[in-house]
Amino acid sequence: MVPAQETRAPEVTLDEIVALCKRRGFIFPSSEIYGGIGSTYDYGHYGVLLRNNVKAEWWRAMLSDHEEIVALDSAVIQHPKVWEASGHIGGFTDPLIDCRTCKLRFRADKLEDAECGRKPSKHPGEHSECDLTEARQFNLMFETHVGPLKDSASVAYLRPETAQGIFINFKNVLQFARRKPPFGIAQIGKSFRNEITTGNFIFRTREFEQMEMEYFVPPDEAPKWHEYWMEERMRWFTDLGIRSAGLRLREHGPDELSHYSSATSDIEYLFPMGWSELEGIANRGDFDLRQHTEFSGEKLEYFDPDTKEAYVPHVIEPAAGADRAMLAFIVDAYDTEEVEGRKRTVLRLHPRLAPVKAAVLPLVSKEGMPERARAIYDEVRSKVAAEYDEGGSIGRRYRRQDEIGTPWGITVDGQTADDGTVTLRDRDSLEQVRLPAEGIAEHLAAKLAEAWRSPKLD
Ligand code: ATP
Repeated sequence: MVPAQETRAPEVTLDEIVALCKRRGFIFPSSEIYGGIGSTYDYGHYGVLLRNNVKAEWWRAMLSDHEEIVALDSAVIQHPKVWEASGHIGGFTDPLIDCRTCKLRFRADKLEDAECGRKPSKHPGEHSECDLTEARQFNLMFETHVGPLKDSASVAYLRPETAQGIFINFKNVLQFARRKPPFGIAQIGKSFRNEITTGNFIFRTREFEQMEMEYFVPPDEAPKWHEYWMEERMRWFTDLGIRSAGLRLREHGPDELSHYSSATSDIEYLFPMGWSELEGIANRGDFDLRQHTEFSGEKLEYFDPDTKEAYVPHVIEPAAGADRAMLAFIVDAYDTEEVEGRKRTVLRLHPRLAPVKAAVLPLVSKEGMPERARAIYDEVRSKVAAEYDEGGSIGRRYRRQDEIGTPWGITVDGQTADDGTVTLRDRDSLEQVRLPAEGIAEHLAAKLAEAWRSPKLD
């Protein structure tokens, strides 16, 4: 077991994060002009870029670092039997309690986190007027119908996890990929859950993206690979700049384990609302392959040509949410400081995660500076994600870039016309150095490949 790390207090409120995301066009409440729809968000330009970068780093960690892992993209709507076999139709439920007085609905196992609709009572059940029902099981899957008829025969579900798409393709992948255990199948895609406990921004939404990898191993090697993936996944977060004081591994107790799991550990992050799951790393044993074998009649096993025996591999599953990871990266990067008497808000994101790597800025909009800056911008953006901005004072433009986490500012000034140099401003140290404009794109591309540590650690 990897030891829990030292801890620290949350440094930023969720409201501050929500405000920054809205102000800078990362994330908007969905259907806002109609009053919104609960726990559903739309991603704006920088949100799309940031989440894409999170996913790209995940793919890199899976595929570039592991030749034994292959990619998959399975369908959202699958045969309804998939969810019978997986146990989701029977077991994917949360116990719910309704309050007859305030008409609110709560998860029975999360009453302590819930707020009662009646003040000054804090939690449901604490006010004399609270009138709670018994707990009832509520299935989290969204139902839909396939084809023109809406009857019980046409019921289908929006997938509540991406993992089952991997298990039902086990045979296909094995045939084409010619891998032997240990080997992995990785997938990123949307999942849907009719969540009850919502309200922590993109931490828990009804539609979200999962990054899941199923790692098929010889049964006796499962504990070893479980340990391996816990360490790998912790390292992924710290390599991308999350400070280890805000991360810990927590092992599930026996009454907490999912129906399929023999051991699960969560990587938890210290979100503004407290320690919460960031990613689960489960030892699923052979549950899924055996279930699908039973329900489909297809043998899902591996034939070992050396021993001439077939066996059902065990599965280790690191399962992360792209949106939840993105939230953790934003929270961990968020910083404020006073510079020359003015408050500055800055996202100290790992440069590889930053939506924009370089902003090219003419110091003023005259004396040929915009034209020179545009030419440099065209060159830079062919190598790294860049943005050109000429509106407003240079200070305002820097602050805008700081808030979206742009690590480098390239400023074209009067001297550029004389000697072809520009200034390169560092988002974190605020240092400015003069460099030739020529070759600056390559210089930044090289910097992006370097190891990085959060300046908040210094
Ligand atoms: P939780 O206990 O927070 O509901 P879970 O244990 O049900 O999560 P898993 O089924 O293990 O979650 O899913 C794996 C990962 O998918 C989670 O660690 C999380 O990052 C992400 N995830 C799950 N549900 C949601 C959701 N409703 N919104 C955003 N991300 C989610």
